[in-house]
Amino acid sequence: MGGNHLFLAPCVNDEAQACFRKSVIKQISKEIYQQYTDQDYGPEVSFWAISDKAERYYQQMSSGDHILFYTNSGEYTHAARVLDIEQNPQLGKEVYSSNSYPVEYIIYLEDPFRIDTPSSKIHDLIEYNVDYPISFTKVSDDRVEKIRSKFGTIRNYLAILESGELELESDELDEEIQQIIESTSEEPILTPKQSSDLLMDHSGVRKRKLSIALRRMLDKIYDERCAVCGKRREHPTAHGTEAEVHRIAGKLRENFDIRNHLLLCRLHHWAFEVGWISLDDSFCVLTKNAEDREGYDEFIELEGEEINLPDRRQFWPHTKYLQEHRDRHGFDLDESKIYDDFK
Ligand SMILES: [Zn+2]
Repeated sequence: MGGNHLFLAPCVNDEAQACFRKSVIKQISKEIYQQYTDQDYGPEVSFWAISDKAERYYQQMSSGDHILFYTNSGEYTHAARVLDIEQNPQLGKEVYSSNSYPVEYIIYLEDPFRIDTPSSKIHDLIEYNVDYPISFTKVSDDRVEKIRSKFGTIRNYLAILESGELELESDELDEEIQQIIESTSEEPILTPKQSSDLLMDHSGVRKRKLSIALRRMLDKIYDERCAVCGKRREHPTAHGTEAEVHRIAGKLRENFDIRNHLLLCRLHHWAFEVGWISLDDSFCVLTKNAEDREGYDEFIELEGEEINLPDRRQFWPHTKYLQEHRDRHGFDLDESKIYDDFK
């Protein structure tokens, strides 16, 4: 029966990181993998390969088990579910051609996902008394039981890590909140920061904390309401509301400037995203003049309405970001009524 085991895969040295990028993140195409196996895993598949030194772990592994990847100092950045396993040194040799040590076993993976979790957090839970896994290893059953007794299944636990619910106390976010507040005194920078390798960045945990801090601040200053329509919808059973964090200047992925964000309901998040609506510099709604499109009648009613802004001016959307949004979606302040192709 699969799904009961948890394995830890360290990939910290350059060679292991290159392998990780190649076969786990970028995936291997069917043209390549089918030269070495009869299995069909679709047009692309992810896998991790281990050497014959890890044979005993391979023998205990089955589909449905999970692997955590330790790819940064102090962090597990990714997790994946085992799809299938196979002894296949040829495929390993083909894909990891530059590798200095031979691999023997292939672990095919279902879509790997980011967890960006400090290793100490996971190790504390399983009472694992080291900072990092030294080599590929299996977490013993009694340690896995600690996860299962608290979260039901390993899968549930990883879903919680993936969703960013790090169970952070608000005082753990003090530094991030402070940084967000301080950055509001600086001029916005509109050039997207070139991140050469987003996948293997060295501050995944930090970014995760910043985005949680940003979300908490937006919830607070917008009172968990949509800035456009003022609606607030709660989850029927769990904690939380429907409102989503909306980034105004679209290309600034690494941007945690609160003045580049709004809290919006699903509908208005979408309307902003696709360019149905934008804002002028007095924070009044502009509507795309696409009269022949369904939805127009609804959105045109918002035209000229001032959105709900936070009490503190320093948290209001910055006009530079609004300008970027208007430019991107073809809103001209003087001629916003002129029809242009709605894409
Ligand atoms: Zn709304």
